[in-house]
Amino acid sequence: MVNFRQRQRIELLLSAERGAMRKPFGAQRMAGVVFPNTYHVGMSNLGFQYLHRLINAHPNWAAERFFTDFDPALSLEHLRSPADFELLFFTVAFELDYLNIVEFFERARIPLFTEERGPEYPLIVCGGVCVDVNHHPIYPFVDILVNAEAEAILYDLLQLYEEAGDNRRRFLQDVRRLPGVEVTYGACQRYDLDPPPIEEQRAPLPDRVEAREFWSSPLCSHILTPHTEFSDMCLVELARGCPYRCTFCFVGHNLNPYRTVPLDALKTWIAERTGMAKRFGFVASAVASHPQIDELCEYCDELGVAVSYSSLRAEDVTLPMLRTLARSGAQMLTVAPEAGSFRLRRLLGKARLPDERLFWVIEQALRLGIPNLKMYFMLGLPTETEEDVLAIPDLIARLRKEFVAGSREHGRIGALALNIGVFVPIPKTPLAKFDPLPEELTRRHLRLLERQLRRLDNVRFTLPSLTLARIQRLLVQGDLRTADFLRLAHCCKKNWREALREWEKVAAQA
Ligand code: SF4
Repeated sequence: MVNFRQRQRIELLLSAERGAMRKPFGAQRMAGVVFPNTYHVGMSNLGFQYLHRLINAHPNWAAERFFTDFDPALSLEHLRSPADFELLFFTVAFELDYLNIVEFFERARIPLFTEERGPEYPLIVCGGVCVDVNHHPIYPFVDILVNAEAEAILYDLLQLYEEAGDNRRRFLQDVRRLPGVEVTYGACQRYDLDPPPIEEQRAPLPDRVEAREFWSSPLCSHILTPHTEFSDMCLVELARGCPYRCTFCFVGHNLNPYRTVPLDALKTWIAERTGMAKRFGFVASAVASHPQIDELCEYCDELGVAVSYSSLRAEDVTLPMLRTLARSGAQMLTVAPEAGSFRLRRLLGKARLPDERLFWVIEQALRLGIPNLKMYFMLGLPTETEEDVLAIPDLIARLRKEFVAGSREHGRIGALALNIGVFVPIPKTPLAKFDPLPEELTRRHLRLLERQLRRLDNVRFTLPSLTLARIQRLLVQGDLRTADFLRLAHCCKKNWREALREWEKVAAQA
C-alpha cells in the first residue's frame, strides 16, 4: 500500500530529474535495479546508473529503480513492489550496505533465504565491487552472483532468461556457464540442480570479467538530479582499473588491467551534454593518470564548463588540473597521504609522496584560490608506532603554517579538515598478509592523535568508530556464517555494539 507521503516524495524526486527514461510497466520483461542505500547515495553511483540505462536500452526489457528510502519497498518509476519483477539486480558498492540488503528484503516482503523463495518471487542477482571483495555474507540470500562489468555479460544473461521462458531450472543451468557468474547453493537446491561443492562455496568468486570496449557507449550519468551528492553534475568515467598498487587497496590489485577512455570519446560525450549540464565530474581511481588529462582540462576550459575530480593523487596532479579546478570554483582540495610518516607511506605504496610534494600541491592550490583543504589519514596500520602517529600532527602543524601564510594573500584563512579512518585489511591485497594492529593499541593511538590534534588551532577532524571498523572487517573477511551476523544486526535494529556482542557469543559457541 503506497501512502500519501511516500507517493509525494517519489513524485518530487522524479520531477527534479533530467534525462530519465520511463518505459510502460509490463509491456516488456521487467527487471528491478536495487541500490541498497538511499536515493541520494545510489544516484551518485555511476555503475548503478549504467545498469539501469543498459537494461532500458534493451528492446525487450524495462528497468525500474529501488532504494532503501521507502517502506514498503517501491519502484520509483511505477510504484511497484519488488515482487512484481522477474529479476532484481543488486549493486553493492559499500560493505555496510550488506546490512541494508537484509532490511530491503523485509520491506519488499520477500523471504530472505534463497531456498524459501518460490517461482512467484524474482530471481536475485547480485554484483558490484563488494561482491568481488567478499560475497560470503550474502551468499545464502541471493540466487546468482556476478563478478563482471555489466557491459561484459548483462545482455547474454537477459537473453538466456528470455530463451528459457518460464523454465528457471534451465535458465540457472545455462547462466552458470557465463564467465564470472555463480549460481548459489540455495538456488541450485530450490530448482533441483547439482549444487556447487562446498570448497567452491567457500572460495572467492572467479576472477572479474572485464568488458573489452567498455567505452563504446557514453560512460556518463544519464539522469541528473539535484538530490545527489554531486547535485546536477554529470559524472564522466575516464578509466577503469588503476595503474598504482597501493598495498591496502583492492582496486589496484584486482580490477586491472588499467584501461582509459580515448580523449576524442571524452570530448564528444562532454560536448554533447553541455546543454544538459554545466558541471562535469571526472571519475576514475586516479584521475591524474589519464594520459591526456591536461588536454581534457583545457578542452573543458574552452567550453567554459566546471570540472571536479573523484580522486586526486597528490603525486601526479598537474598544474593544468589544479588551474581548471580553481577556475571551476572549487572551494576544497582533497588529498590522501594516509600516513604522517614517510616510512608508513612507503609501506602503503605511496613512496612517491614525500612531504615536499604534498606541500607543493597545497601551495599551488592556495595560490590559485582554492581556500580549503581536506586530508585523509589511516590509523591502526601494521607496524604502526607512536612515532608514526605523532608524525601526523607534526605534518599538520608544519602544513598549517604554510596554509595560514598562503591563505593570508587571499584575505581569509580557509578550513583545514582531517578525516581519520581505521585500517581494515582487505582480502586479495598485499597488506592483508600483515598482522593488523591489536584493537586496544589502535584505540591508544587514536587517543594520542586526538590529544595532539586538539592543540592545533583551526584544524577540524573526525575520529572513526572502532566498532564500525570491526564490522567492516567482519564483512570483508567473514565466511559463510557472516550471514547470521547480518540477520542479528537487523534484529538489533543496527545497534552495532549489541549485534557484535550477540554475534561473538554465537561464534564462541560454534
Ligand atoms: S588507493 Fe587509489 S591510487 Fe592507490 S591503488 Fe587504490 S585506486 Fe589506485
